[in-house]
Amino acid sequence: MRCLVCGRISFKLICKSCQNKFLQPNLFKRTLACGLDVYSFYKFSEMKNLIKSKYSIFGSTVYKTLAKNSFAKYAKEFNYPSAVYAIPIDDRPTPNFSHSAILAKSMKSKFLIPKYAKLRATNIVSYAGKSLNFRLKNPRNFNYTFKKDIEVILVDDVVTTGSTLSEAYTILIQNNVNVLFALTLADADD
Ligand SMILES: [Zn+2]
Repeated sequence: MRCLVCGRISFKLICKSCQNKFLQPNLFKRTLACGLDVYSFYKFSEMKNLIKSKYSIFGSTVYKTLAKNSFAKYAKEFNYPSAVYAIPIDDRPTPNFSHSAILAKSMKSKFLIPKYAKLRATNIVSYAGKSLNFRLKNPRNFNYTFKKDIEVILVDDVVTTGSTLSEAYTILIQNNVNVLFALTLADADD
């Protein structure tokens, strides 16, 4: 096959050289108005094409490659005095795999336990290309179905206005969950 990025013949969907050149993560921090710190590994503008490929048949492979270069590396360095749960936001298969679940899965370590399908929107509405005003008027109405009194890292693929993460954060606080911070693949605030 050919590398998705450079087009050269490659055994991997994104060749090793492109992974080394373009997928080295940085940590960008943003603090949302609700107080939640959001760390992102990439700038959305630089990863647009790869992230948008999530809707293609290569989507899950691209996400696994991105996760291996970012979330998994981060998780390897992460340690904490007690178990921390990595909870993907609304990890609903769309249409055939869940982007946020792939990212959370790659974080599995001695200290980090991914938990799936614990935080799901009851209001299914697409936010793509929508304004903050629209997002605020159409909340996701998350339903949380896991333990209280635990430490959690929220996981999502893209942070845009932060309204989804803020809403998830609020629900978790109401459930006595201590959200340490959120981790996303890419920050679209640029
Ligand atoms: Zn390449």
